Amino acid sequence: MTETRKLLQGQTGDWEVVVGLEVHAQVSSKSKLFSGASAEYGAGPNENVSLVDAAMPGMLPVINKYCVEQAIRTGLGLNAKINLWSRFDRKNYFYPDLPQGYQISQYKDPIVGEGEIEVELDGGETINVGIERLHLEQDAGKSIHDLAPNASYVDLNRSGVALMEIVSKPELRSAEEGAAYFSKIRTIVRYLGTCDGNIEEGSMRADVNVSVRRPGEELGTRTETKNVNSIRFTKQVIDFEARRQIEILEAGGTIDQETLLFDPKTGKTRSMRSKEDAHDYRYFPDPDLLPLEFDQAWVDEIKASLPELPDAKKHRFMDQYGLSPYDALVLAADKAKAAFFEQVAKDRDGKLAANWVTGDLFGALNKAGKEIAGSPISADQLGRLIDLITDKTISGKIAKDVFALMFDGEETGDPAEIVEKRGLKQVTDTGAIEKVVDEIIAANPQQVAQVKDKPKTMGWFVGQVMKASQGKANPQAVNEILKKKLGVE
Ligand code: MN
Repeated sequence: MTETRKLLQGQTGDWEVVVGLEVHAQVSSKSKLFSGASAEYGAGPNENVSLVDAAMPGMLPVINKYCVEQAIRTGLGLNAKINLWSRFDRKNYFYPDLPQGYQISQYKDPIVGEGEIEVELDGGETINVGIERLHLEQDAGKSIHDLAPNASYVDLNRSGVALMEIVSKPELRSAEEGAAYFSKIRTIVRYLGTCDGNIEEGSMRADVNVSVRRPGEELGTRTETKNVNSIRFTKQVIDFEARRQIEILEAGGTIDQETLLFDPKTGKTRSMRSKEDAHDYRYFPDPDLLPLEFDQAWVDEIKASLPELPDAKKHRFMDQYGLSPYDALVLAADKAKAAFFEQVAKDRDGKLAANWVTGDLFGALNKAGKEIAGSPISADQLGRLIDLITDKTISGKIAKDVFALMFDGEETGDPAEIVEKRGLKQVTDTGAIEKVVDEIIAANPQQVAQVKDKPKTMGWFVGQVMKASQGKANPQAVNEILKKKLGVE
């Protein structure tokens, strides 16, 4: 962590923003953490509720081994320590959508300990962010207050669904860093397949801890904004909270340790309750569950089965294909995009392939509102198109035209055939190019006179020749012939 990172300017000097995120990621699992009820999204109210989830007296939780394995996978993806011994605790609090009266979570002994990940910021800078822990816990149900004027309803479908709570160290220093970190966690769990990352369906949400301090001073009092359900809102919360706290402190006030809610409509936070401390929850080991204990061999086996992770892939793309950190990041951030790129780049110029994939293709997909999986141009087609540029069959300009024809569905199949059929082959026949050049020189005596004094104006002639040849003249040949005929060095 460098000390020069982004300070916020107040009325009375600079402030440092200190942010820690607790990201809750729902485990991609068919059934819940301690019951066999379905964990699927979108069922009717209370359709996925077992007696365990409804906390009927005498019901006992049974640990879901699959969920434990996903937590270990995620821990390994966060370069974190896997604890071979961990246990579940009861976190006691009353809430209408928590029928047990406590949440089964992990407190002193989480399944995953400290780790560290790389987070890329806009502008190419990369920071390392420490992970404090990852623990498993069950989700609560959902209270519904807006369905009837005089009643509240409860839907327990989510009750008991497995969550991984990933806690960062308070090492983030701005709204941008907080958002980039959240986004990176999402990329990692999606790569691993341990969480689907569908933030809009509630699969991921963040509790956002924010405090401010003068550079070099002790940590200030923090506020915690609960259940922030988008990356954009996370950014807004950090910005808003930092500004709000600085204003209070500069006016001579103090910050209350509070739990807040974010209102996306106003872009502001508001108080939910004064913050409780850990001891308020009366944590104690859950007597219904045995500690989790497994051996290193199982962890090693899981480690061996992990896919290549985004950071490793990013570095490999830089080494193997000579990509810039930015291009490597953009391509590695999504498994499907990375695979597409590698198919295009195979046995070709990696940088050229990256330019076409991140520039032309992603641009067109974006504009059309399409995902890479629905790309009208296949990796094979794009690769063949690039081959036509490399072997000088067509110019880059014509390639863009062919690309557009294929993307819009006006042409399908092999780009070489499209080029052949449409007569788009590059003219490298110098005789033919010379003829066009002679005509243009003869028709423009004024420009010819000008180019003697200002050699840079030769670009105008290049444009004219390309236009006359409908983009098919080989630009290199055009340049050479023009130089010769115009006497430009
Ligand atoms: Mn939690």
